[in-house]
Amino acid sequence: MLDYETLTLPTPFPAGNVKCYLIKNDPVTLIDCGIYSLESLKSLKEQLTCFGFKIKDIKQILITHAHPDHYGLASTLQLDSGAEVYIHADEMRKAENPTLLLNRTSEYLAFYGLSEELRSQLSDHFSWELGFVHPLEEVIEIGDAYTFTFEEAELRTILTPGHTMGHLCFYEKSSGLLFSGDTIIGNFAPSPVLEPSPIKPYFRDQSLVKYIDSLRRLKDLPLKLILPGHGGQIVDIADQFQRVSNHHQKRKKQINNILMERNEFTPYEIACKLWPKFKRPIDMYLAISEVLGYIDMLSVEGEIRQEETASGFLILRK
Ligand SMILES: [Zn+2]
Repeated sequence: MLDYETLTLPTPFPAGNVKCYLIKNDPVTLIDCGIYSLESLKSLKEQLTCFGFKIKDIKQILITHAHPDHYGLASTLQLDSGAEVYIHADEMRKAENPTLLLNRTSEYLAFYGLSEELRSQLSDHFSWELGFVHPLEEVIEIGDAYTFTFEEAELRTILTPGHTMGHLCFYEKSSGLLFSGDTIIGNFAPSPVLEPSPIKPYFRDQSLVKYIDSLRRLKDLPLKLILPGHGGQIVDIADQFQRVSNHHQKRKKQINNILMERNEFTPYEIACKLWPKFKRPIDMYLAISEVLGYIDMLSVEGEIRQEETASGFLILRK
């Protein structure tokens, strides 16, 4: 049986504190590790001390996905402890070349109707976020169904593309425990984000379509407890899946209704209709990510079609 503790680490991001998990079975393991900042490191050390551990005791760091609040501190901890760092190969491709990805994201956003001014503000925001990461150096790249063996327990990776394409959850079968990262979170429905492929230039994955499929696979597991990357632990599993599914159905209907209004829209125009009062550029990025997700779903279902033109990207009713 897995013996674990929950660590809550501060971040300056809209999602708030990040939850990381200390597995006390041998080898001592950290699942996710917070941002690269003095405040985060101090908080981590204090919480480890409370549980009777030091950074030097950590033998493995398992990363759910390459967002700064989940992996920013990993290489700092690795330097101090010599821990092995495990991450999905696709996430590593993103982490090792963040600038390329940011440039591609900006190009996509222009294509989807975002003004140069907003794109420039967004680039500033992403550069600021990257300040909370210390680059990863020595990692072990893993994929789906990789098994970590502990004294009296086993954890298996489950690849859950959606929130990000190489997102890993960690599952302990014998107790029905799932460390879900940002695939399932406690306080709100997680957003699959617009993510140009780090491997194929100018290719965008259908993040929400993949996300729904990932949820479907998780739903089939005999889960008893979900430990998410944000918010509290989730015990009412069926209710959580239903809540997320209701949210997606409702939002898809809203977007379909907007599309009834006229024949052509850009993703930006739909996002502005849904969230007319957005304040921060990051909110517009998340809004466009979400709109694209539902546009992909509606396209798969045959309701609409997406068309690339010389002037940009249009969504048309069939
Ligand atoms: Zn995330």
